[in-house]
Amino acid sequence: MATREQILAELGLTPIWRRRATAPVSFADATKRDAGDVATATTDIAGDRRTQIFALEWDGLVEHIANCTACALSRTRHRTVPGVGDRNAEWLFVGEAPGADEDAQGEPFVGQAGRLLDNMLAALGLARSRLVYIANVLKCRPPNNRTPQPLEVDACRPYLDRQIELLKPKLVVALGKSAATTLLNVDASIASLRGRVHRYQGVPLIVTYHPAYLLRNLPDKAKAWEDLLLARRTFAAAGGRLPG
Ligand code: URA
Repeated sequence: MATREQILAELGLTPIWRRRATAPVSFADATKRDAGDVATATTDIAGDRRTQIFALEWDGLVEHIANCTACALSRTRHRTVPGVGDRNAEWLFVGEAPGADEDAQGEPFVGQAGRLLDNMLAALGLARSRLVYIANVLKCRPPNNRTPQPLEVDACRPYLDRQIELLKPKLVVALGKSAATTLLNVDASIASLRGRVHRYQGVPLIVTYHPAYLLRNLPDKAKAWEDLLLARRTFAAAGGRLPG
């Protein structure tokens, strides 16, 4: 005859939770212990989700993003915006988050800022469909284009990390403060971050202004051009193929 444990196992109702026979604990200690348990469980869930995402190839990744409900942005988005471009690209450009146009079309940088980005790419002999991949830190639009919140960035980070692992780009270009500070995990101004080579997951990373900022601050376009020249030199030094 089957034991109670065997029957419960058969029904998928194990493990069986039993009250621990422990000495009484104070309310403060119990609260601390419970908070610790919640933190550990949260870390475990985030770790499991990351492991799951890191097992995905490109199409699976795009589908996972499309079904993502890891943060509240999933309730207000119209479309997810995973990224666009050449999956064998050696250049990766990373922006902040989709805006209204991107949310409607499901593609990054399709608005006015996107046209300037296309011109910046063309100045390097690149195009969004050729040698380049474009993604954002967030794959969903924050309401009213507000700055991404830390919880949203943390929830979305495994997607960008997996994209970088799949692409293995020779160079990452961070567009704007939000992308730069997120990727480099620092709180610093663009002025202090541009003009030198950083690394993200071992890949050289250059920081430049966000195209939307450049549209409002035309004189800084000259500095952005200097950044692109540094990007091109860094790319070549990393063994990247420059377009002919
Ligand atoms: N700004 C961004 O950072 N990303 C987009 O895709 C569009 C605007």
